[in-house]
Amino acid sequence: MTDLTRRKLLASSASVMAGAALASTSNANAQGAIPQVTAGTSPRPAPAIIQGLPDVLVVGGGAFGAWSALSLLEKGAKVKLVDAYGVGNARQTSGDETRQIRAAYGEDEVYSRWAMRAYDLWHQRQDEFGRGMIYDNGVLSANEPEDKLAVEMDIFNRLGIPYEVIPHDELVRRWPQGRWDDVEYALYEPKAGTVKARESLIAVSENFQAKGGEVDMAHVMPGAMSGGTMASAVMSNGEDITAGSYLFACGPWIGDVFPDILAGYIRLRRSEVYYVGSPAGDTRYTYREFPNMWEPHAGAYAMSDIDYGYKVVPRFGIGIDPTDDDRVPSSFLMLKVYDYLRQRLPGLVDQPIVASRVCALEISNNHHYIIDQHPEASNVWIAGGGSGHAFKMGPMLGEYISDRMLSLADDPELRDLYAIATHAPHA
Ligand SMILES: Cc1cc2nc3c(=O)[nH]c(=O)nc-3n(C[C@H](O)[C@H](O)[C@H](O)COP(=O)(O)OP(=O)(O)OC[C@H]3O[C@@H](n4cnc5c(N)ncnc54)[C@H](O)[C@@H]3O)c2cc1C
Repeated sequence: MTDLTRRKLLASSASVMAGAALASTSNANAQGAIPQVTAGTSPRPAPAIIQGLPDVLVVGGGAFGAWSALSLLEKGAKVKLVDAYGVGNARQTSGDETRQIRAAYGEDEVYSRWAMRAYDLWHQRQDEFGRGMIYDNGVLSANEPEDKLAVEMDIFNRLGIPYEVIPHDELVRRWPQGRWDDVEYALYEPKAGTVKARESLIAVSENFQAKGGEVDMAHVMPGAMSGGTMASAVMSNGEDITAGSYLFACGPWIGDVFPDILAGYIRLRRSEVYYVGSPAGDTRYTYREFPNMWEPHAGAYAMSDIDYGYKVVPRFGIGIDPTDDDRVPSSFLMLKVYDYLRQRLPGLVDQPIVASRVCALEISNNHHYIIDQHPEASNVWIAGGGSGHAFKMGPMLGEYISDRMLSLADDPELRDLYAIATHAPHA
C-alpha cells in the first residue's frame, strides 16, 4: 500500500467512524467477538481500528458483499463479513453453479468497460487463488436487432474489445453441433464466457479469511440512526453488532432490510436454471468446443457445459419469496428447456437434466445497480439491484465499492448512475 493510500484510508476511516464507533450495548462483547465501547466514555471516539472493532461490517456474502469485503480488507480496512445463511448459500442469487461474462450491453458503455476490466480481474484472481474460476469459451449473441448491434460494435471499436459478426453459413461451418436455421448472424465475443458462481465466492471468502478477514453467520438488520450515522446494527438474537461503517449487500432481501427507503425498488423474479448432461465423453457441448448463447428472443439463453451440464435458462416471470419458497423446478419449464434444445442443439434432446437451481432474480426499475449511502446515515452503505448482470462484475464491484467507502475515488457519473435517487419503485 502506498503512503498516500494509507493516509487516505486512515483519514476516511476516521471520518466515517466519527460517532459511529460509539457502541450502544453489545452482548457480542461478552462472547469476546467484538469489544464494547460504551457511549460517552470517550470524548472523541478513536477510530474503531484501534479499539479492535471492525472498520467495516459487510452484511451479505454474495457477489456485491464478498468481493467488497475482500477489496476493503486489501486496502487496509479491518473487515467482518456476515451472512444469514453463509457465503455461497443456496438461497442467494449468486449461489448457482455458473454465470456469464460478456461485454455487449447495448448503449450502456459503462458496463462494457466494466465487463472488460472485470474480465481481466477474474483472470488475475484466478491466478492468485490458484483455482479455476473463468472459462474463455466466448459468447454468441444471436440475431440482435441491427441498430443495437451497430451501437455495440461502435462501443467495442472505441474500447478495443474484440468481436466478430458471424454470418449464418460461417456459424454452420464453425459449430456444426448447433442448429442455425433461425439465425441470420451472431455477434461473437471471444473475450467472454463463463465464471463459476458459488465456487468463486467460496474462494473469495477463503482468500479474505487467509488475509485476516473475519467471516460469520448472522442475520443482521440496521440499528437506530441519529445525528447522520448508525451506531450499531442488530442481529436477529437482539444483540448489537458494531463497526465504523456498514455495507448492506443483501441481494433480493435489500428492500426488506431498508423498507423505509427501498420498498418497491427491487422486483423479484423466480428464475429456473437447468443443466442437461452431455453424452459420456462427448466434448461438443462443453466450454472446450462451444460458446455460450445469448438469445433472449429464443425464449432462453444457454451456457456450455463446464463439466456440470449444458445450462439452459428459460425466460419466465413469476415472483418468488427468497426466504420461504421451495426451490423445486417446475415441469412446465423443463419442457421449455427441451424446446430450446430442439431449436439450437438437437444432439442434447435425448439427454437428461442432471441438475437444476431455482434462483431469485432481483431487478431494479432501471436495471442499474444501487450503490449509495443511506440518506440518514453516512456510515451505512447499500449495494445491490444486480438486475441480472452483477455477478460477472464481482471483482470490479469490490474495487469500486471499496474505493467509494474509503473515499479513495468517486466518479461523479457513476455516483449518479448508482444513486438511490436515480432509481424509483417499480411501477
Ligand atoms: C438465473 C440468473 C442468471 C443470472 N445470470 C447472470 C449472468 O450470466 N451474469 C451476471 O453477471 N449476472 C447474472 N445474474 C445476476 C447475478 O447473479 C446477481 O446480480 C448477483 O449474484 C447478485 O448478488 P448480490 O450480492 O446482490 O446478492 P446475493 O447473491 O443474493 O447475496 C446476498 C446475500 O445477502 C445475505 N443476506 C440478505 N439479507 C441478510 C441479512 N439481513 N443479514 C445477513 N445476511 C443477509 C443473503 O443470505 C445472501 O447470501 C443472474 C441472476 C439469475 C437469478
